[in-house]
Amino acid sequence: MHAVLAPAHHQRSRPTPRRRPWWRSRPKPSASPRDALALVAATLLAAMLVDYLAPWPYVMTPLYVIPILLAAHALSPRATAGVAAVATLINILSGLLQGTPLLIHAIYSVALVLTDYLAVAFAAERQRAARHAQAAEAAHERLQFFMRCVVHELGNPLTVLGGYVSRLHHQQGLSPEAEQYVVTLEHTAERLKCLVRDLRDAGHLGTDYFQIHPAPTDLVAVARDVLALRQASTDDHQLRLDAPTRLVGVWDEERISQLLANLISNAIKYSPAGGPVQVTITSTAAEAHVSVADQGLGIPPDQMDDIFRPFERLHTDEVVEGLGLGLTIAKGIVEAHGGRIWVESAPGQGSTFHFTLPLRAGVVA
Ligand code: ADP
Repeated sequence: MHAVLAPAHHQRSRPTPRRRPWWRSRPKPSASPRDALALVAATLLAAMLVDYLAPWPYVMTPLYVIPILLAAHALSPRATAGVAAVATLINILSGLLQGTPLLIHAIYSVALVLTDYLAVAFAAERQRAARHAQAAEAAHERLQFFMRCVVHELGNPLTVLGGYVSRLHHQQGLSPEAEQYVVTLEHTAERLKCLVRDLRDAGHLGTDYFQIHPAPTDLVAVARDVLALRQASTDDHQLRLDAPTRLVGVWDEERISQLLANLISNAIKYSPAGGPVQVTITSTAAEAHVSVADQGLGIPPDQMDDIFRPFERLHTDEVVEGLGLGLTIAKGIVEAHGGRIWVESAPGQGSTFHFTLPLRAGVVA
């Protein structure tokens, strides 16, 4: 058994590091406005107390900056302006009562008013950014809902179509021509199913959707099935598997099948002139390593990281079919298993996609 190594001039994308995937990260919960107001009031009181008790005969203006900055960080622009006005007023009165020399007091007060202005501007900017984020989230939710509806509506007719095609497939006495039509129909139905599955996954991007259900799975058997299915849809490509007889790990079988199908479909799609597609499976004591190599169009070095992002597509002139989701989903599946995915490629000289899977994905994930 030998691994397919990419030629030295092939460029390589960054393998995804093992860390919590971006779609699982959660924004930190911020304090409620009431808590924030209580904290601001407490710091203002503390500032007054220290200012009053300290043996220093001048007003301690920097202390009054603290509640103003806290308000800018946590309260609305209007509330920030209120806190700033109160703190500035107390500062001016305290300076007069403590007999701070007028020039020094004036300089301190002007600096504090400037801080007030900047604090209110910051609070306003913060509020604007929060409104934009809320609007974007609402739009994202609407899009997800729409995707789920589309997927649901497409799912039923597709199941019916698949059922009838499969019955036709087992029908006796079909002419060779009719049999050919049935095979084509079967592949089209399969392709539609994959598209609907990608759409379903796209509707969940940004959520915990890629939760996996790991169970003992033979990676080689899954690869064989996927290759057999894909080989039936192309005469121009020779799909080859170089692998041990079995490689069992704890993985989500359905997701691994989807991952391999995406990479192998791409290898076929982006090799319009045909040629070999080589799938190689090796393993170490800790992980499985899979590579899918083609001799197709290749990928420019500066776009190798982009292609894993949703809806990023290259080669739109040469090959039209596709949503730009297959690799995003592939990355999601690999990372949910605790693995890494990357590509080596050079334009016009083919691409090799690599991914690794810890042998016990359930434990790592
Ligand atoms: P789709 O194939 O639906 O466009 P993918 O997310 O699977 O979406 O791929 C994103 C882009 O990456 C593709 O549009 C294509 O330009 C590029 N790509 C993917 N696989 C290959 C490959 N094997 N060879 C060359 N380019 C590829």
